[in-house]
Amino acid sequence: MVVRSQAVLKQMLEDERDRLEGQLKHSGAKVGEHVGYGNHMADDATEAFEQARDLSVRTRLENTLHEVQDALSKFERGTYGICEHCGTKIDWARLEAKPEARLCIKCKQRSDFGR
Ligand SMILES: [Zn+2]
Repeated sequence: MVVRSQAVLKQMLEDERDRLEGQLKHSGAKVGEHVGYGNHMADDATEAFEQARDLSVRTRLENTLHEVQDALSKFERGTYGICEHCGTKIDWARLEAKPEARLCIKCKQRSDFGR
């Protein structure tokens, strides 16, 4: 049996956070460079589309980063791997697949259906 610990997941989350922060920095610079650039009508339309796309990518990155940071802060509080809704331990397999998971699989399914 392979010995696995939460330290592995913490490392995964830290790597993910660094990666996301790097991407955010990169996308921020890219959006800035595009502002006020381009004199052609056709290019402007393309740029507007690309900026909108960049923005949605950025928003998604920020959301994911927030989840990752939230998960990391739980290590400090000693509540990592505990379902936020029902308080039971989240399955290890689920955490390995999605280290930033906040809910156990049962609560997750319930919240998905409950909308
Ligand atoms: Zn739960």
